Amino acid sequence: MRWVLEGDILLKMFRCFFWESGRTMINACVLVLNRSWVAVNVAPAKRALTLLFQGHARVVHPQDYALYDFDAWLEFSRRSTGLSFRRFVYTPSDRIRLPEVIVLNAFNGFHIPAVRLSRRNIFTRDRNICQYCTRHFSRSELTIDHVIPKSRGGKDTWENLVLACTTCNLKKRDRTPEEAKMPLMRKPVAPRWLPRVALPLPKEDLHSWKRFVELRY
Ligand SMILES: [Zn+2]
Repeated sequence: MRWVLEGDILLKMFRCFFWESGRTMINACVLVLNRSWVAVNVAPAKRALTLLFQGHARVVHPQDYALYDFDAWLEFSRRSTGLSFRRFVYTPSDRIRLPEVIVLNAFNGFHIPAVRLSRRNIFTRDRNICQYCTRHFSRSELTIDHVIPKSRGGKDTWENLVLACTTCNLKKRDRTPEEAKMPLMRKPVAPRWLPRVALPLPKEDLHSWKRFVELRY
């Protein structure tokens, strides 16, 4: 079994976990795994609880991976002691513990969204590293290079655009990497990042998502 998330942007996403003071608890974030236990999204707790209530998802216990449907989770919530009141959502007669991770019962509603091709996202994917000389540069020293030159029919795609420093760019000219004898440090591909959620994160809960996440880079 593998739990896969890609891209260092995910580290930033951990910051989404739970809420900042002043935000309501229901705005907490929940990691969503698909039926194959691959992390596919981050959902607000309200959405996660709805999926749980409707029987579309189960809660994954962050420690032992035990699965809970809504009724079992409600029961488990009643028995949960020693946790901050912020960990719960309250109804007039009961309390429900906020899940940290849920797993979908079917492939409904969530899928890994495509990352938009943009200058900014190419810089993020290539991490300000020239893909030819493998050195790190500041933004202003980098250009976006067409691997197969535009003049030769090269397209604007994730697979054909890479960061190149000005020196490498000049050296390569209108040639392919093979012709210029300038191999790419890695094959450019479209990244699969999860949506960025910009909420601050209390450090205490970092671990619970990390178990489900493997960073590729
Ligand atoms: Zn370079």
